Amino acid sequence: MAKMHEGRLIVRNSSLVDFSRCERKGALSWILGKVPRGNESAAPRLGTEVHRVLRGWYGGEFGTGVEAVRAAMATFEAGYREFAERVCSAGDDKRRWGNASRVLQGYLEQNMPEAFPFRPIPQWLEVRVGDVSAGQEEIRLDEEREDLLFQATFDMVAWDERSVAFVLVDHKTTSWLSELTSRQYAGDPQGTGYLWAAKKWVKRQYEEAGQRAPDIQGMCFNMIETKELPSDPKRKCKKHGTTYSECGRWHVRSELLGPYVRTPEMEEGWRVEAIRTSEEIRRLFDYSERCVASGSGSVLDKAEPKGLVSGACTIYGACEFLDFCRTGASPRLIDTLLEDRKDWGEG
Ligand code: SF4
Ligand SMILES: [Zn+2]
Repeated sequence: MAKMHEGRLIVRNSSLVDFSRCERKGALSWILGKVPRGNESAAPRLGTEVHRVLRGWYGGEFGTGVEAVRAAMATFEAGYREFAERVCSAGDDKRRWGNASRVLQGYLEQNMPEAFPFRPIPQWLEVRVGDVSAGQEEIRLDEEREDLLFQATFDMVAWDERSVAFVLVDHKTTSWLSELTSRQYAGDPQGTGYLWAAKKWVKRQYEEAGQRAPDIQGMCFNMIETKELPSDPKRKCKKHGTTYSECGRWHVRSELLGPYVRTPEMEEGWRVEAIRTSEEIRRLFDYSERCVASGSGSVLDKAEPKGLVSGACTIYGACEFLDFCRTGASPRLIDTLLEDRKDWGEG
């Protein structure tokens, strides 16, 4: 999300990443608020629904034991089943209801809240910070400037007894968990942004109460692998001694990565780049506004297709606007090929 609010720009990690990879992608997603037509994807919705369940799970809302799993799965079913049955193809989409529910149930059964290594702070689960449009206190990227603001949602702030400090936890659904995933997340720039903002925000909470804030020692990623689980009703699993339809969900893999620390240099480097990118975003927003006011031109005239050089068109999986760009990225084709995004203002 990136938006203008009373002349001030508010950015989040997602928009900073999109704009820095490719200005055209950023402008299409966050200034014009578009997605390719008829391209409703299950990935973001699955992520949202899993997050909803995990907030309740680690916040103690579902109780404990078998009953807790049942209650959590009922919440997941209410939020996801109808959507998945409409959007995912029945046979091979690993995000279809049958497989996705096996994945989540398997995860919950293997990760009871009482076994979690940190103590989640209940009021700091899925907590949104810096949303000035909702009356929250601002988080300035540069203390000297009031026009560039940062907003974030922390999945979990938790207390680590051993290091007597907070940790920040982000839940991630991923299609493939490997050595590489752990290396990627160790230095993930979004993690740096979250840590930078969380330190500022937690410090403020304590200072308002006249106390000294404990440290936030690092960032953890709670990874859940959402791949296809074995479900054959006839073949027997050697490991569990039952058919795969019985034990499939016990094959789900998950891992709590971290805590990863960031050096002060990394955080400052992130902040300087975030300011620079925000200034570019601001320039594009202003240009877009002038186009709308004068009834001529489009922000696409100024948003550079950096992906053509940086590789962002394909490097992180195919960019959703690849077809639009292949047909020449003409502003005249926007209404034909693209539609308004439904998560506009969130993300
Ligand atoms: S396809 Fe490439 S150039 Fe087009 S918006 Fe995506 S990243 Fe940018
Ligand atoms: Zn098995």
